[in-house]
Amino acid sequence: MSQSQGMLIVFSGPSGVGKGTVLREYLQEHPNVKLSVSATTRAPRPGEVDGVHYHFVSQEQFQTLIQQDGLLEYACYSGNYYGTPKKAVQEQLEQGNHVVLEIEVQGALQILRQHPQALLIFVMPPSYQELERRLRERNTESEEVIQRRLHTAIQEMGQACQYDFILVNDSVPQAKARLDQMIQAGPYLNRQMKSMIDEVLQDAQTIPQ
Ligand code: 5GP
Repeated sequence: MSQSQGMLIVFSGPSGVGKGTVLREYLQEHPNVKLSVSATTRAPRPGEVDGVHYHFVSQEQFQTLIQQDGLLEYACYSGNYYGTPKKAVQEQLEQGNHVVLEIEVQGALQILRQHPQALLIFVMPPSYQELERRLRERNTESEEVIQRRLHTAIQEMGQACQYDFILVNDSVPQAKARLDQMIQAGPYLNRQMKSMIDEVLQDAQTIPQ
């Protein structure tokens, strides 16, 4: 990836942590940061629009996307497939925009392996009790679903240390400001600087001492 290209930003966190709210507000203020629209085999929820929230596809269409190497990453989560369409992301990066992938942990780790220059951010709740409170506050899910989400959340938070930055969502304005600092710092991660370091070391070998 050349310097003029945008940065790939992975954004993960457990259900109920409020990552969508922080991200939506951040994106509204930063038009050069685009959100990737994933493909999924899950059914649309009320209010979700095809092509806006997700590209809702059949199992067959998803398989075709995989076979045609059309996905940057994909994963099965809660019995449904989710994947990041490659072409749209590449187009945005080439235009110099940053692209955010709001994806779960398995997909995030695939991105890290294949695109080590990506910036990985994990959103944590300020406490476990607060996560539970936020999940219950939604008041939309049964106790069984809440317990399942909390169990998945614990597993996901166990992988948080594999990310570059941890964003604690204690309040949306503060989290948004910290997210901005993390994105500003992204280009200086040592993984991002690898080609520059290699160049200096190569010169050191070729230039006579
Ligand atoms: P939901 O069904 O609640 O919209 O999403 C379930 C989980 O799938 C969330 O953690 C969401 O971030 C993740 N997800 C959404 N799109 C993708 C994707 O393209 N790839 C992967 N790996 N996960 C995704």
